[in-house]
Amino acid sequence: MNELDLIFDLHLRNDRQGPGSAAETNRAIDLARLDSKSPLAIADIGCGTGASSVVLATTLHAHVSAVDFSASFIERLRAEVASRGMQDHIEPIVGNMEALPYGDAQFDVIWSEGAIYNMGFAAGLRAWRRFIRPGGIIAVSEITWTTAHRPTAIEEHWTREYPSITTASTNLQRIEEEGYEPIGMFFLPRDCWEAAYYEPISAGIPAFLERHDNSDAARSIVAAEQAEMALYQEYGAWFGYAFYIARKINDA
Ligand code: SAH
Repeated sequence: MNELDLIFDLHLRNDRQGPGSAAETNRAIDLARLDSKSPLAIADIGCGTGASSVVLATTLHAHVSAVDFSASFIERLRAEVASRGMQDHIEPIVGNMEALPYGDAQFDVIWSEGAIYNMGFAAGLRAWRRFIRPGGIIAVSEITWTTAHRPTAIEEHWTREYPSITTASTNLQRIEEEGYEPIGMFFLPRDCWEAAYYEPISAGIPAFLERHDNSDAARSIVAAEQAEMALYQEYGAWFGYAFYIARKINDA
């Protein structure tokens, strides 16, 4: 198994593959003021195993096109959709967020939790805009500095790992520059990282190592996850996941 497949395997059994929760997905739905009675076409990009797709399809009268490039995540979502009888509401597909198979103005809403960083925040906003109808909504979560200044150690870490990390005010400016009107933003609470994300990963580590015969590759993935968790424990006040909600405005 290559490194990426090992990472998918470590995360496959968890409810979410990034920080988040049903309560916070619903909070973003409320902020966007999505009407739960009118039919909505939604794309959930980088959906993972589809925790947010299920919330969207449950809370709203929606058809959710759920896309991720991990075939194993999509397979698990397909099984869940079938067992919940939600085939008419969630359509999981394997696909690349950089080359989405969708038409112009096809969606009322583009949703993406903890995944736009794979393209970069501004690049994702730019690339996905054409799929949203004018007046439609984009709601994305993105790792974000909580303040203007921070300790050098954490600054160096994230600048190395994700150079375009920035503050909420700069991300709001990027939203404006890419042709959207900001509606709101909020930071996910700490339990979205700890209880909802890191704790299930930690709990799954012994079985993961066993499945992969304690291989060097598996151990190095575990070490990287543990280093990230330690970093969050120490410096979690300085960065977080922010949810950004905005509306597509017409071209100038
Ligand atoms: N939205 C989910 C998953 C977040 S993890 C949740 O909140 O739980 C980020 C996801 O992006 C992973 O599932 C990963 O497989 C997916 N991903 C990464 N690069 C991608 C790409 N180029 N196209 C589609 N999905 C991608």
